[in-house]
Amino acid sequence: MGIMTKRVLLARPRGYCAGVDRAVETVERALELYGAPIYVRKQIVHNKHVVQTLERKGAIFVEENDEVPEGATVIFSAHGVAPEVHEQARQRNLHAIDATCPLVTKVHQEARRYARDEYDILLIGHEGHEEVVGTSGEAPEHVTLVDGPDAVDQVEVRDPSKVVWLSQTTLSVDETLETVDRLKAKFPGLQSPPSDDICYATQNRQQVVKQIAPDCDVLLVIGSRNSSNSVRLREVALEAGARASYLIDFASEIDDGWLAGASTVGLTSGASVPEDLIEQVLGHLAARGYADVEEITTVQERQTFALPREIKRDLAARN
Ligand code: SF4
Repeated sequence: MGIMTKRVLLARPRGYCAGVDRAVETVERALELYGAPIYVRKQIVHNKHVVQTLERKGAIFVEENDEVPEGATVIFSAHGVAPEVHEQARQRNLHAIDATCPLVTKVHQEARRYARDEYDILLIGHEGHEEVVGTSGEAPEHVTLVDGPDAVDQVEVRDPSKVVWLSQTTLSVDETLETVDRLKAKFPGLQSPPSDDICYATQNRQQVVKQIAPDCDVLLVIGSRNSSNSVRLREVALEAGARASYLIDFASEIDDGWLAGASTVGLTSGASVPEDLIEQVLGHLAARGYADVEEITTVQERQTFALPREIKRDLAARN
């Protein structure tokens, strides 16, 4: 038997999106400006490493506003919140800073507009995910959750000529198209959102995974289990032909058995994953003979988002 060549195909774009970058920086800047502790409602982004790092710097993560002392600063996570959460914060006299990704806010605005026009809104997304809870909260009486293609049969609407679909930002593009096709077959008058709800970062990370997956014996996705876009990347990898795919938080979770007989290892990371975790995994792989790394780039991302207004204002006042 000849010597097996070993290589890594590194996906790009990967890791931090503009919304996550902004949310994490919001917490860091708030810590600098107002001092610890800073309260954060829910995980600021769905990544263990990020949450642990911010905790060490003085962030305190809570589930609900009533755990935050009156008058304290609280930051709302990138996934967005229902209007009632803002109202609770006002009632408790909290200094609330909203780190909701602007692309999630866009979906909230769509939900409000269609609800005002008396549409039934079919929100494609995963039951219980924070983003879906927040978006539904904009118009609870008008929103029906559709959790994947198989849920379509149960969907009912008041008036089939006034129905629109919206979606969570971090879904599988292909699975969502399938859900929409089935909804259209059932409700031919179904309208589509004015622009894509699945965000650019989700789409781009899936696109490059699709491209490299057929060449990969195993494709590693760095991301936490509660990170929707990371979980989708593993599914997309398997559908696109990776022989195996695993979701890991840290390099230490890689089982040597996964690499047995693997010539090509694919590597990517979800939108909430910092680049140092990629470096650690590359180091781990290099130590096992996978030192040859080829980066496959499908698109250059240039998106950035400005920090929340009050953070920008207080930074400017300090300087
Ligand atoms: Fe915003 Fe998309 Fe990133 Fe979510 S994954 S924070 S919607 S850019």
